[in-house]
Amino acid sequence: MGSDFYRIEPLWGATDTWKTVNRNLECLIRRHGSKMDRAVALARDVQVRLESIFSLLDDLCAVTCPWCPDHCCLVAKVWIDFKDLLFLHLNGHEIPPAQLLSDFKETCSYLAPKGCMLPRIARPWVCTWYLCPTQKANFRQKPKSVQDKFTRTVQAIKTGRKDMESEFIRIVS
Ligand code: SF4
Ligand code: SF4
Repeated sequence: MGSDFYRIEPLWGATDTWKTVNRNLECLIRRHGSKMDRAVALARDVQVRLESIFSLLDDLCAVTCPWCPDHCCLVAKVWIDFKDLLFLHLNGHEIPPAQLLSDFKETCSYLAPKGCMLPRIARPWVCTWYLCPTQKANFRQKPKSVQDKFTRTVQAIKTGRKDMESEFIRIVS
């Protein structure tokens, strides 16, 4: 859940901190111009892989979430981490107006009566890869080829996110 299980408050939960980190990231990316090309390409690659699993995730959600008695987002203590934010900036996506939570006592501010208000592509990675037990059971009914492809894609996304972050740090260090 998020990048640091032992955090006592969500990363960049305060509005000012959220604005500052986003402004700084935007400046850094702009300042380094074409030196960021490889990081941008890695972020695009992650995006393509993410988009390739959205229809499966939508299908799993369509047959489970609308009848869920125990919505996971009501209790999730997760946040947009550095790789999530970098991914959004490098791909030129609209940045959510605030972190998911400003305090661990809160519920995610993007949870609406009909589900998550954030487009899938802008959600933290943890919100994308998490399959609850009901969804896992449903997933295991899919053909093996579908399950294997999903597992491989999730692994490739994890690796791609790490590579994207390493490349960004290499350029700005
Ligand atoms: S992912 Fe699972 S726990 Fe979360 S809302 Fe859907 S069915 Fe419920
Ligand atoms: S961002 Fe969306 S999917 Fe993630 S916890 Fe919040 S409401 Fe749920």
